[in-house]
Amino acid sequence: MAEKMIAFYIRVSTDRQAKVQEGSLKNQKQILLAELGKRNLQSPGWGELIETYVDEGISGKDTNRPAFQKLMKDIEIGRISAVMFTELSRLSRSLKDFLHIFEFVQKFDCDLICLKTDIDTTSPYKNLITKILMVFGEFEREMTSERTSINAYERSRRGLANGGTAPVGYRREKSRKGYFVIDEAGAGAVRDIFRAYLSEESIKKAMEKIRRKYEGRVSGLKKITRGKIYSILTNKAYIGIREIYKKDEAKTEEVKAVWEGIVDEKTFRKAEALLEKNRERLRGRRSENYPYLLSGLMICEKCGERLQGKSAYSSIHKKHYYYSHKNTCKENGINRIPADETHGLVLDWLKDISGNGARFEELKAQGKARIAAQIKVLERECSSLICEAKTLTADIEARVSKLVKTKGTAIKKAVEESITNLEARKAGNAEKRLYVENELKTLREMIVNEKGIFEAYRKPLKSALQSEPGKDLQNKLRDLLAFVRMGEKDIKMALYGVNRKGPVSVLYASAPWPRLELGTLWLTARCSAD
Ligand SMILES: [Zn+2]
Repeated sequence: MAEKMIAFYIRVSTDRQAKVQEGSLKNQKQILLAELGKRNLQSPGWGELIETYVDEGISGKDTNRPAFQKLMKDIEIGRISAVMFTELSRLSRSLKDFLHIFEFVQKFDCDLICLKTDIDTTSPYKNLITKILMVFGEFEREMTSERTSINAYERSRRGLANGGTAPVGYRREKSRKGYFVIDEAGAGAVRDIFRAYLSEESIKKAMEKIRRKYEGRVSGLKKITRGKIYSILTNKAYIGIREIYKKDEAKTEEVKAVWEGIVDEKTFRKAEALLEKNRERLRGRRSENYPYLLSGLMICEKCGERLQGKSAYSSIHKKHYYYSHKNTCKENGINRIPADETHGLVLDWLKDISGNGARFEELKAQGKARIAAQIKVLERECSSLICEAKTLTADIEARVSKLVKTKGTAIKKAVEESITNLEARKAGNAEKRLYVENELKTLREMIVNEKGIFEAYRKPLKSALQSEPGKDLQNKLRDLLAFVRMGEKDIKMALYGVNRKGPVSVLYASAPWPRLELGTLWLTARCSAD
């Protein structure tokens, strides 16, 4: 029987937002299972899971929770000898309650193991109380900031501005918090920017015009960049609208602002439509402006060669751009692929992922299924490695005891040698296991942290899609894409993982070509060295 009788304690609150942060029921359970597995690996027979206690939709402000109460009873009758939970806040949000729980479990010789805050009563008690006090101090701060953000939200709902600098053309009203008054000099510049963009129909040209007139002369326009112009053209504050959670499309709300607009609604909407139209038009023009947006990223799937940008004239003397092998494909693969269509395909993919939450979900689900499959394979590998380690250990022990009994030098030497060999194999086994475990950990984290994945991609994707073709877009694509691979029947695109420092995990999409359509877009995640 295992040394410890383990209980998992899981609590999920009702609040949707809190749920995202603390992880769902399933997430918490997975994390705990992984930890239990790890500890049992480190010292076999460490603990056995007896029961998982779940309080769902219940706050941690007191101990009046059904599953929690049952857990306490089970500890009392000696059914449970260690409680594992992901964070201290799952167990309790009040210091007073926690100290009670602490006292109680000690009385019944039960351990508390908290994963995140490193509180573990099975290890020496060094600094434990300090740590606990620190954690509760953190709760206090968190609660305060939560209250602050609720406050800020309520204020935005009333159309008031939050902190930060006022947009160009406005000043903060000193006597009333959250109100703007129009700053005439800046407002003139803002109106000019809209006018310039509508007449020039290009951000770049508008920028040049505005620069000559205003740069350094108006507050907020010290430096006029394309980004600045763009952000002004898209800021609804100028038509008296307060946007809440502007950066998170899923949560964005619009309310009437407490300040006056600077631009009339008609002008603003015209600019909005023109921006959209230009974005569309740029897609078609891409190759003329910048023929090889994906240079350095295109790879031949068959031979692994990095493809180069090349151009050729057709019989009617039209220039065509390609990504092509230096000579011909050594593995008899396809030699070249039209640059234009490839760009269109990749940009469409990115647009598809960034703009369509449902699409991303679908891709992610496929990706997760693939990860899950990989996890299964690795888990099998892991257990067979454990098995092997056990056999090796037993073998070594047997030989060591044989060595003690052996008298003859020659035999002794042979046995010694065989032990050295086995030790080497055991070391190799341990190393492999470490690698497999790390891989497993990465993959498991990827499954758990799905919200993070989406958020980490959304911003850079949007920013890439909004930039005009050129060096800038090329760089942004390089930051996003791990590679684009030309296969014989399809093209695959892989996005870099969220954490580029660790082993890179990539989202992966492919489509058949040369008909280059989105029909069989799929996505998976994999790990590879950076
Ligand atoms: Zn090739």
